[in-house]
Amino acid sequence: MRLRNITGSREVIADSDYVVHEDILTSCPGTWHEIFGNHDPIRIEIGMGKGQFIHTLAKQNPDVNYVGIEKYSSVLLRAIQKMEQEELPNLKFIRMDAEIIDEVFGKGEVDRIYLNFSDPWPKDRHAKRRLPSRQFLERYDRILKKDGIIEFKTDNRELFDFALEELEPAGWKADAVTFDLHSNEEMMVGNVMTEYEEKFSSMGNPICKYIIRR
Ligand code: SAM
Repeated sequence: MRLRNITGSREVIADSDYVVHEDILTSCPGTWHEIFGNHDPIRIEIGMGKGQFIHTLAKQNPDVNYVGIEKYSSVLLRAIQKMEQEELPNLKFIRMDAEIIDEVFGKGEVDRIYLNFSDPWPKDRHAKRRLPSRQFLERYDRILKKDGIIEFKTDNRELFDFALEELEPAGWKADAVTFDLHSNEEMMVGNVMTEYEEKFSSMGNPICKYIIRR
């Protein structure tokens, strides 16, 4: 998702209390419980877009802390605007490229990672930029607690097949896999729709999902 540049989005982000700012990010590992002021579990969404999914989860689960990560200011701005309409103490945002995720969270600090409708990067030479790639799984391995899980949803079958192939070489295993989430009663329990999930499922695209652990 890339919205046209919105004038002033960088300034709004720089002034926002909902955002953990770039200048302190590298001092954050190991201190996220202080940032939230409690010892509740920390769950993150990487590539959250406008924040519909993570905002809904944070509202449903006040005893869980959430961090939404998004690369583009113009997109993050939308998530900030949603928070201005409905403020949630257990939700924070970071504007950054997730390539440095393991410099921002400490070892085992994260309880769960959500990847939703990640960019496909279709060219082979860009495979390592895909968020479910083995290179990213290595970074997630460093920050996720021992029994932590990753949940990934997409309507892109090629990306999903790639993601499944990456599991074994990276030392992960699937707890659950579906190629048609919305027809899978068990995996649909508690499902929160993302913006892209609403869009693509309404077009009739089946949604794939895995839940993985080491
Ligand atoms: N997760 C949302 C959903 O399901 O509606 C948005 C999906 S959108 C296709 C993917 C989002 O991930 C975009 O907003 C993009 O900017 C962001 N993104 C892609 N690669 C990223 C990265 N390396 N770090 C942070 N955000 C990233």
